[in-house]
Amino acid sequence: MNDGVRAWVGLGSNLEDPLQQLARAVTGLATLPRSTLLDQSPFYRSRPMGPQDQPDFVNGVALLQTSLPPHDLLDHLQRLEQDHGRVRLRHWGPRTLDLDLLLYGDEVITTDRLTVPHPGITERDFVLRPMLDIDHNATLPDGRRCQQLLDDCTDNHLQRLEPVAGAPLASPPPRH
Ligand code: ATP
Ligand code: CA
Ligand code: CA
Repeated sequence: MNDGVRAWVGLGSNLEDPLQQLARAVTGLATLPRSTLLDQSPFYRSRPMGPQDQPDFVNGVALLQTSLPPHDLLDHLQRLEQDHGRVRLRHWGPRTLDLDLLLYGDEVITTDRLTVPHPGITERDFVLRPMLDIDHNATLPDGRRCQQLLDDCTDNHLQRLEPVAGAPLASPPPRH
């Protein structure tokens, strides 16, 4: 077991069997150096933000204990996104895997590459709901409670998904 901080990672996918993408991503997170996967949330189907002409998303969060410095952790998250064949087409557009660093202990970080807490947390039920599933006392560094933020935020029509391995979701599996 490493020392370090509790880091929360948000996961999202809406392409190429999103449930499998997220399940594989959690496995990837579990094998990061200097890190231990403490918990993973249930997955939720949610409507896309921004452009609506794309499939629904599947979202969840993972909780790590890590002694990786935050920018090194971001490097690993971006490498995992690449491993999943992520291609950036347009802002908030469809993607095979999106990994956001939501919280890194109680640290507040503002650099060119990294803003923590992730600015989207406060208004995204598909982040807050799964965080609360893991820790119903989850709190931001400034003391705001995730439960309160969830009560206040826009309803994204979350649908909790059953953890059935390989269940086809937004699109049928590719034909070969
Ligand atoms: P959003 O950040 O609103 O959820 P997005 O996930 O679609 O949008 P991306 O295209 O995945 O945005 O990321 C753009 C850039 O955001 C990345 O290159 C990364 O350097 C930067 N970034 C800043 N803060 C974070 C963070 N906390 N987690 C992940 N990426 C971050
Ligand atoms: Ca994101
Ligand atoms: Ca991202």
